Formats: sequence, C-alpha cells, structure tokens
Amino acid sequence: MSNYDPNNIFAKILRGELPAHKVYEDDKTFAFLDIMPRASGHTLVIPKIAARTILDVAPDDLGHLFKTTQRIARAAMTVFAADGLTIQQFNEPAGGQVVFHVHIHVIPRKNGVSLKPPASVKEDPAVLSAQALKLAAALKDA
Ligand code: 5GP
Repeated sequence: MSNYDPNNIFAKILRGELPAHKVYEDDKTFAFLDIMPRASGHTLVIPKIAARTILDVAPDDLGHLFKTTQRIARAAMTVFAADGLTIQQFNEPAGGQVVFHVHIHVIPRKNGVSLKPPASVKEDPAVLSAQALKLAAALKDA
C-alpha cells in the first residue's frame, strides 16, 4: 500500500466513525451513497482493505470489487429506472481523485440528462436514506 492515510473520509466511514448511507456490504467490499451525487443513486463502492489507488489492490480483490460494482449497477438500473450507467474511477490528484481510499463511482443515467459537476450539491439526507433503503432492498433480492 502506497502512502495510505488511515484518516481519510472513507476509512472513517469503514470504521464506523463517520455516518454513511450504506447500500451493501460483504466481507471485502462496502457500498454507500455519494453525499454530493452527480445524479440520483450515485453510489461509491470501496474495498475494505487500506488501498489508496487501483494500483494498491491485488488482482483477486480487484475482481471482487468489480463483482460488487456490477451488483450495485444492476440494482441501480432497476431502482432508478436508469437508461444507462456511468462507471468512474480516479487515481491520484492528477487523475481527479479527491478522497484517497480507492473507490468506484456507479452513476445511474437518464437519456438526455447531464451529470451535475463533481461535489457540487449536497443531497438532502432524508432523500439519501430513502434511496439507500430501496437499493439495499433490491440488492437483497438480487
Ligand atoms: P473522487 O474524485 O475522489 O473519485 O470522488 C470522491 C467522491 O466522494 C465525490 O463524488 C464526493 O462527492 C464524495 N464524498 C466526499 N465526501 C464524502 C462523504 O463524507 N461521504 C460520502 N458518502 N461521499 C463523500
């Protein structure tokens, strides 16, 4: 692991020190809603291991991370009646990364609707809670 700050926001969420709108968890991965969604249902999928970027994740763990990402993506398509999905993953400041625990963005998309700029509008926590419940329920049935 290179240059991992154990006090980054997502590490604190994983340790339960900060709240999050959880949608899914297994032994290796955790998924929760982005508090400043670029579209409704914007979800972040992270590994539980301390990894700064994609370069710090072992291939098998990366495989599992993408398996979880696909599960979230399937559920998000249904729950948000999406026409498509944008999957994003940024590494280091030069690559657009802002939070330094590796994560994958799953963003449900509607035809003709542009993404909001990154980290521009904080969503109402009540809206996020309701969305997280719906996604979690859909994932249970998946
Ligand atoms: P990055 O550019 O590092 O890929 O994106 C970081 C993402 O984390 C952004 O989409 C931002 O809205 C989101 N974010 C920042 N702080 C928090 C937080 O405290 N909780 C949650 N759930 N998301 C956050």
